[in-house]
Amino acid sequence: MSNTDTHDPTSLRTPIVAVLGHVDHGKTSLLDKIRGSAVIEGEAGAITQHIGATAVPLDIISSIAGDLVDPDDFDLPGLLFIDTPGHHSFTTLRSRGGALADIAILVVDVNDGFQPQTLEALDILKRSQTPFIVAANKIDTVPGWDPNEDAPINDTYESQSDRVRQRLDESLYEIIGNLSDEGFSADLYWRVQNFQRNVGVVPVSAMTGEGVPDLLTVMMGLSQRYMKEEMEIDVSGPGVGTVLEVKEEKGFGKTVDIVLYDGTIKEDDTIVVGGQNDPIVTEVRALLQPRPLAEIRTESRFENVDEVGAAAGIKVAAPELGDAMAGAPVRVVRDRDLDEVIEEVQAELASIAVDTAEEGVVVKADTLGSLEAMADALDEAEVPIVRAEVGDVAPRDISVASTAEDPKQQVILGFNVDVLSDAEHRAETDDVTIFTDEVIYQLVEEYDEYVEGIEQAQQ
Ligand code: GDP
Repeated sequence: MSNTDTHDPTSLRTPIVAVLGHVDHGKTSLLDKIRGSAVIEGEAGAITQHIGATAVPLDIISSIAGDLVDPDDFDLPGLLFIDTPGHHSFTTLRSRGGALADIAILVVDVNDGFQPQTLEALDILKRSQTPFIVAANKIDTVPGWDPNEDAPINDTYESQSDRVRQRLDESLYEIIGNLSDEGFSADLYWRVQNFQRNVGVVPVSAMTGEGVPDLLTVMMGLSQRYMKEEMEIDVSGPGVGTVLEVKEEKGFGKTVDIVLYDGTIKEDDTIVVGGQNDPIVTEVRALLQPRPLAEIRTESRFENVDEVGAAAGIKVAAPELGDAMAGAPVRVVRDRDLDEVIEEVQAELASIAVDTAEEGVVVKADTLGSLEAMADALDEAEVPIVRAEVGDVAPRDISVASTAEDPKQQVILGFNVDVLSDAEHRAETDDVTIFTDEVIYQLVEEYDEYVEGIEQAQQ
């Protein structure tokens, strides 16, 4: 069986959406709400299962959005949401012609405003030139908010009590103010304009679902208006995608969860995947999609499919995937020249490669995208890097760090990664300091403080 919803005859693929924002601002809840609404609206079985992503077809968006979305006005087949909120993989490819995320939702808690990860996400979005919409979340917590009033994007502004309006206005103005130094016109957040420059802010509640129809409507509208051309794909061409995660899977060994944004991938296809060292050339053994919950008995959680078309999230089982990197490109060779495809993958990886110095700190990160973001932040802070890699902190990283002569460089900075236990042990004996964090900004700050401490001690 193949993914029927992805073989659109118009050859326009589904735009891919990433959800970003500060921890606890409601990314997971918002995705859950969107998924939940889609399941409620869709007939059982109408929704294709994906790995690492949720597809919401146009007709279901239209049911959720009610009068706001008339399916006849749209050619795009729906929206594909990447399920891992805050995932950094998507940041690597956009500026190089490919796109893991075509569009993003930046979730901001109306009470908490812009926080370090919000700013980090904003930086990434600007750098990768990914269009985005702000979901001003948790409006249900605004004192006096009445969910029975009209939905926010239409005329809540007129109909809620002054007190609530003022409270929400303050939050939204703060958010908008943070988005640009140029300032915005008063009613900007209702009127989403040229969205590369001006940014739409949609008040939502991931808890009650209020504003979610509006958010989906705005996303569909913007995608249709600004991105239709970019969504034109060769539906049956050799697939192009990005690795979301590398995972050990019982019975399959190391597998990669990928998002396919162009063409198709089939069983037995030869593929080239970006690896820690050289590009990995291997053959697809199985394409796995999650089985619908109702069908899971004692057998595998997965169902084999012969072929998948963009845009889709799918698990690929193939030999030799141990070295694959999250955020790295995946390309199907099929009738193309293998060397040419390998070169393309190499070129893509080279363009993401971090400049390293003779001496510096060791950097580890969970994906290529986050590694790039880390390198940028360290470059700005004028911290040289001797080695930058995707993956957990391993003993060989300790070896590298321990050879530094300057104690300020006997350091490993790990973003969103674990420290393997033998590495931890080795770090103690070799006098290597490891910092790990889930916020780049905080990681750099911790390192700065550490350096200050050393400098003070030296005086
Ligand atoms: P994430 O870290 O960004 O994925 O945030 P979560 O989705 O895990 O949400 C963090 C907390 O905020 C959880 O306790 C959620 O229940 C709560 N939360 C998320 N969205 C809303 C909302 O719209 N209203 C309220 N009242 N709580 C919310």
